[in-house]
Amino acid sequence: MLHIYCPHCCEYREEEEFHCKGQAHIARPLDPDNCSEQEWANFIFFRKNTKGQHQELWHHSAGCGKFFNVSRNTITYKIEQSYLLGTAPQPVLDVNKEGKA
Ligand SMILES: [Zn+2]
Repeated sequence: MLHIYCPHCCEYREEEEFHCKGQAHIARPLDPDNCSEQEWANFIFFRKNTKGQHQELWHHSAGCGKFFNVSRNTITYKIEQSYLLGTAPQPVLDVNKEGKA
Protein backbone atom coordinates (compact mmCIF):
# COMPACT_ATOMS: atom_id res chain seq x y z
CA MET A 1 0.00 0.00 0.00
CA LEU A 2 1.20 3.48 -0.83
CA HIS A 3 1.36 6.21 1.74
CA ILE A 4 0.74 9.46 -0.06
CA TYR A 5 1.60 12.91 1.24
CA CYS A 6 -1.24 15.40 0.74
CA PRO A 7 0.28 18.89 0.47
CA HIS A 8 -3.05 20.40 1.57
CA CYS A 9 -3.47 18.30 4.74
CA CYS A 10 0.34 18.30 5.28
CA GLU A 11 0.41 14.65 6.29
CA TYR A 12 0.75 11.15 4.89
CA ARG A 13 -2.44 9.15 4.38
CA GLU A 14 -3.18 5.68 3.05
CA GLU A 15 -3.69 5.18 -0.67
CA GLU A 16 -7.34 4.21 -0.19
CA GLU A 17 -8.21 7.85 0.58
CA PHE A 18 -7.04 8.98 -2.87
CA HIS A 19 -7.94 8.58 -6.52
CA CYS A 20 -5.46 8.98 -9.33
CA LYS A 21 -6.87 11.13 -12.12
CA GLY A 22 -4.19 10.43 -14.72
CA GLN A 23 -1.35 12.38 -16.23
CA ALA A 24 -0.67 15.84 -14.78
CA HIS A 25 0.22 19.07 -16.59
CA ILE A 26 -2.18 18.61 -19.52
CA ALA A 27 -2.49 22.05 -21.11
CA ARG A 28 -5.88 23.06 -22.52
CA PRO A 29 -5.64 24.58 -26.02
CA LEU A 30 -5.24 28.36 -25.71
CA ASP A 31 -7.88 29.12 -28.37
CA PRO A 32 -10.45 26.28 -28.21
CA ASP A 33 -12.74 27.83 -30.84
CA ASN A 34 -10.00 27.77 -33.45
CA CYS A 35 -7.95 24.69 -32.68
CA SER A 36 -7.92 21.60 -34.88
CA GLU A 37 -9.65 18.32 -34.11
CA GLN A 38 -6.23 16.77 -33.61
CA GLU A 39 -5.38 19.37 -30.94
CA TRP A 40 -8.68 18.56 -29.14
CA ALA A 41 -8.02 14.85 -29.44
CA ASN A 42 -4.54 15.32 -27.97
CA PHE A 43 -6.00 17.32 -25.07
CA ILE A 44 -8.88 14.97 -24.31
CA PHE A 45 -7.71 11.46 -25.17
CA PHE A 46 -4.00 10.99 -25.72
CA ARG A 47 -1.66 10.48 -22.77
CA LYS A 48 1.90 9.39 -22.29
CA ASN A 49 2.60 5.86 -21.16
CA THR A 50 5.79 6.70 -19.31
CA LYS A 51 8.15 4.05 -18.05
CA GLY A 52 9.94 5.68 -15.13
CA GLN A 53 9.32 9.07 -13.56
CA HIS A 54 5.80 10.31 -14.23
CA GLN A 55 3.71 13.25 -13.00
CA GLU A 56 0.11 12.44 -12.04
CA LEU A 57 -2.94 14.33 -10.86
CA TRP A 58 -4.38 12.94 -7.61
CA HIS A 59 -7.55 13.73 -5.68
CA HIS A 60 -7.80 13.38 -1.89
CA SER A 61 -11.36 12.15 -2.26
CA ALA A 62 -11.83 10.74 1.26
CA GLY A 63 -9.96 13.61 2.89
CA CYS A 64 -9.81 17.29 2.11
CA GLY A 65 -11.29 16.84 -1.39
CA LYS A 66 -8.52 18.84 -3.05
CA PHE A 67 -6.33 18.05 -6.06
CA PHE A 68 -2.55 17.95 -6.17
CA ASN A 69 0.23 16.45 -8.28
CA VAL A 70 2.43 13.48 -7.52
CA SER A 71 5.75 12.60 -9.11
CA ARG A 72 5.90 8.79 -9.12
CA ASN A 73 8.12 6.16 -10.65
CA THR A 74 5.92 3.80 -12.68
CA ILE A 75 8.41 0.94 -12.37
CA THR A 76 8.99 0.97 -8.60
CA TYR A 77 5.80 2.83 -7.55
CA LYS A 78 8.02 5.05 -5.38
CA ILE A 79 6.57 8.52 -4.91
CA GLU A 80 9.32 11.12 -5.10
CA GLN A 81 7.16 14.07 -4.10
CA SER A 82 3.72 15.60 -3.90
CA TYR A 83 3.24 19.22 -4.91
CA LEU A 84 0.49 21.77 -5.36
CA LEU A 85 -1.23 22.48 -8.66
CA GLY A 86 0.30 25.36 -10.54
CA THR A 87 3.78 24.49 -9.32
CA ALA A 88 6.50 22.36 -10.88
CA PRO A 89 8.10 19.33 -9.25
CA GLN A 90 11.36 20.09 -7.51
CA PRO A 91 14.45 18.36 -8.89
CA VAL A 92 15.33 15.32 -6.81
CA LEU A 93 19.00 14.73 -6.12
CA ASP A 94 20.17 11.15 -6.50
CA VAL A 95 22.65 10.71 -3.64
CA ASN A 96 24.38 7.75 -5.33
CA LYS A 97 24.98 9.66 -8.57
CA GLU A 98 26.10 12.76 -6.66
CA GLY A 99 28.62 10.72 -4.67
CA LYS A 100 30.20 9.18 -7.78
CA ALA A 101 30.71 12.49 -9.57
ZN1 LIG B 1 -5.78 16.35 1.77
